[in-house]
Amino acid sequence: MQPQTQLLHQEHWPTTGFDSVQPGVFRASTVFFPDMAAWRQRDWLSKDRFIYGPHGTPTTFELEARIAHLEGAAHALLCASGLNAIALVHMALLRPGDEVVVPINVYPAHRALLTGELASWGIQVALYDPTDLSTLRIGEATRLVWVEAPCSITMEFPDVPAIAAAARQAGVLTALDNTWGAGVAFCPFDLGIDISAQALTKYANGAGDVVMGSVSVRDKSLYDALKRCSARFGLHVPAGEAEAVLRGLQSLAVRYAAHDRTGRLLARHLAGSGAVVEVLHPALPGACGHEFWQRDCRAAAGIFSVVFDAKYSQQDIDGFIDALQLFRIGFSWGGPVSLVLSYGRDVASLRPLAGELVRFSAGLEAPEDLLDDLSQALALLL
Ligand SMILES: *Cc1c(COP(=O)(O)O)cnc(C)c1O
Repeated sequence: MQPQTQLLHQEHWPTTGFDSVQPGVFRASTVFFPDMAAWRQRDWLSKDRFIYGPHGTPTTFELEARIAHLEGAAHALLCASGLNAIALVHMALLRPGDEVVVPINVYPAHRALLTGELASWGIQVALYDPTDLSTLRIGEATRLVWVEAPCSITMEFPDVPAIAAAARQAGVLTALDNTWGAGVAFCPFDLGIDISAQALTKYANGAGDVVMGSVSVRDKSLYDALKRCSARFGLHVPAGEAEAVLRGLQSLAVRYAAHDRTGRLLARHLAGSGAVVEVLHPALPGACGHEFWQRDCRAAAGIFSVVFDAKYSQQDIDGFIDALQLFRIGFSWGGPVSLVLSYGRDVASLRPLAGELVRFSAGLEAPEDLLDDLSQALALLL
């Protein structure tokens, strides 16, 4: 055999007998079948064997298994981003004429999908106020109810079991955006939710350098519907990125606890600063939905918002943010570096805000350094 051919048909080192901390990266488009009988028996919805790279490799199956385990689900499916996970749920379950019900203050990029593509495909959107469940209307055409716990930016924590029970009674599925809880703070399925979608971009990866999402379910037929839709759209996650998230997951619990501790410390510091009139953090007493957080959660993410005193203008707040040295300005959260962003007074919210809203994401810096940084920037305002 010529070296050229030999190089292509060389046997691999056997993977059995090698044991290490990391599961390794398996990349593939083509996956070999041992014989034609195996090829004829292929089942795209089963994970018993590998069929074609985009449908899964040992690396992506491993990550899916761990995400399912983390979330208390039976099945998980990786998606290209958190938003892609949300979109997949819609595309798999909704048809023209169907209605989806979402919180008024739904994640802004999710809202854009609803008012853009989904509306143009004839899918109706109804809104509910997650702090007043008498506004939750489930009609004849309703197929899906979305829950955010808590809502992005303004952080209201809803009564998840009550929403899930109302939908279940009407025979309607519920999906929860579990990015904040990350599978650590609470188990959506134990609260009655059918589908959990999350941005692994945030805490699961935790390094601020990967974009990925997941959809988790307990029900096999729901999994099959999601998997079919994902396959028909040709959605796929690269093995190298999946491996990065596998590494991140190993430290998720300790990172989440550290983000939580620091987040609450920063929130309390800001609450007592004299510059802030409201702290929007579900774990702090007095926050909207704090009682539901306390009943249903074991922990909180390190992300929260504050409302500054009305006397501070946008310019004042921009000056405060620019004076911060350790908190960086940028989207996303859940990474090692603390972040800050101003959303102004007109954030799609359930109620008018007294002043400028600023959102903080606690990173993994030493908490005392972050407190010092906040103090020096607040001193410019006071
Ligand atoms: C970031 C985020 C998403 C979207 O995740 P991407 O990976 O950025 O697409 C969805 N929901 C919530 C609550 C988020 O914070």
